[in-house]
Amino acid sequence: MFLRKLSFGSLVELSEQQGLGADAVRPRVAIIGAGITGIATACHILDAGFECHIFEAGDKDVVGGIWTKVNETSSLQIHSQFYRFHDAVEWESDYPKRKEILGQVMRLWERYDLARRTTFGCKVTSTYQEEDGKWVVNDTANGYYDGLVAAIGTCGEVYSPSIPGQQSFRGQVIHSSELDVKAVKGKNVLVVGGGASAVEALEFACDNGASSVKVLARSERWFIPRHPMLNACLAGTIGDRYGILAYILGFFLRLIFYREFWDMAPPMNGKDDLYSGTPIVNSRVFELMRQGRASWVRGDILNFTRRGIRFSRRKGGAKEGSLGEERIEKGDVCILATGYRRPSLSFLPKSKASSKYQPPNWFLQVFPTENPTVCATNCTWKDGIGSVGGAHIGIYTRFLLVFLLDPRTAPSETIMKAWVDLVHILKRPYPGGALAFVTSAELFGWFLIVMLVQPALWPWIGFIWNGPGPDPNPKESQKARLGPTQVEIALEQKQ
Ligand SMILES: Cc1cc2nc3c(=O)[nH]c(=O)nc-3n(C[C@H](O)[C@H](O)[C@H](O)COP(=O)(O)OP(=O)(O)OC[C@H]3O[C@@H](n4cnc5c(N)ncnc54)[C@H](O)[C@@H]3O)c2cc1C
Repeated sequence: MFLRKLSFGSLVELSEQQGLGADAVRPRVAIIGAGITGIATACHILDAGFECHIFEAGDKDVVGGIWTKVNETSSLQIHSQFYRFHDAVEWESDYPKRKEILGQVMRLWERYDLARRTTFGCKVTSTYQEEDGKWVVNDTANGYYDGLVAAIGTCGEVYSPSIPGQQSFRGQVIHSSELDVKAVKGKNVLVVGGGASAVEALEFACDNGASSVKVLARSERWFIPRHPMLNACLAGTIGDRYGILAYILGFFLRLIFYREFWDMAPPMNGKDDLYSGTPIVNSRVFELMRQGRASWVRGDILNFTRRGIRFSRRKGGAKEGSLGEERIEKGDVCILATGYRRPSLSFLPKSKASSKYQPPNWFLQVFPTENPTVCATNCTWKDGIGSVGGAHIGIYTRFLLVFLLDPRTAPSETIMKAWVDLVHILKRPYPGGALAFVTSAELFGWFLIVMLVQPALWPWIGFIWNGPGPDPNPKESQKARLGPTQVEIALEQKQ
């Protein structure tokens, strides 16, 4: 409540106080992608009293992005309270499944009248700035924008690698995004992969009457229990520069949580520590393994055979591809839990800079170091402990709006590059990489520091941090405040 009071009113009032004419207060933003990031960004922009337009490659059925492509049983790994991607989101369950998540997405969609602000079937392949700095998305027929938000996520097309000998396998091969009760009931199930999708496939098969379930994983992964307080504490860690905390936490996790499956955890070698990759949040896998309903082996897939998969089992800590014990892992069904291809940001103008300042080595991880009018929210990160659906979406959006509105606040190329270099120096021996791995606490720490060291941003701090809050009647206020969208203007001009 107190923090909300510190938000100093609307962006319009604020900009007037800052001596910026009312005409200046109309940045329009193009958003690429209609997943939760794109939709939440649009709502935050509308809450602040500005306009936006979403360009989505898919059709109407993909509103909600990756959540429209997963199984009915797919659920959040983390507690829903860490996944409030907009203040208007109201969760009923602690770990909501696909239907509830898409329900919340659709609530925002309707409430903010986003249908009229979205172009479907529009895969963005290029973006460029006109001489006056206005952005064009694919074609001028799509209108002109002051800023761009790339919200394309990290999960694109389904990735199904072709494994040698697959045709000879007499069983069924399916991808983990197409789990089906009939396919697993009474069957010996092999799961290829060792990430969150493999865990989901393992649980699904166990819950739907599989005779046996065996996960064939290439490498070890950190598992952390599904416990909101513990998860918050892990995400709340900052500055574990030498990996001491990760070592201690990793030791206790092995001792108390992994126990007899101790060697399923990554080796304690200073490189694969807890704070170096995204852990899997799950408390059930070890339980199912203790009950003898599932098993997990590590090694390299060699090829399919008629009855299963030829697999080279490796001991804990042995490098991928190193010599292991060869055997046939028998199965009737194989689930490829091999994830998704990462969508490309190649539609953004190519960086003139050296390869050093490529994503995620951008200002605050999301602003290209040459251009603060672009914000690539939730699609530059590689690993982390935190939430994709967190309050940072709103904060990034409001940073962008303020940079667009008040050019005095927009960081120069030199400042943005210096910031990236500084983070690299401060995090130097950090195994996860300076900007490739972040925790939520780190992210919010950066936001605070950037706002505090830049005097031009001081008047905007309350707005950036809190925002104006959800608009009680967004449809009406948008109608009153603004005219047609940029796309509508462009279409009118064309006719
Ligand atoms: C089963 C499952 C569980 C998960 N659990 C959690 C969790 O507990 N916590 C968490 O934080 N995250 C979790 N995630 C991660 C999840 O990906 C994110 O939380 C979130 O849904 C990502 O949303 P997004 O909008 O950034 O990307 P997406 O949902 O991938 O949406 C991106 C959209 O951009 C569109 N697009 C891509 N390229 C273009 C282009 N060139 N032009 C136009 N449109 C384009 C795509 O069609 C898509 O609709 C989970 C994911 C899965 C699959």
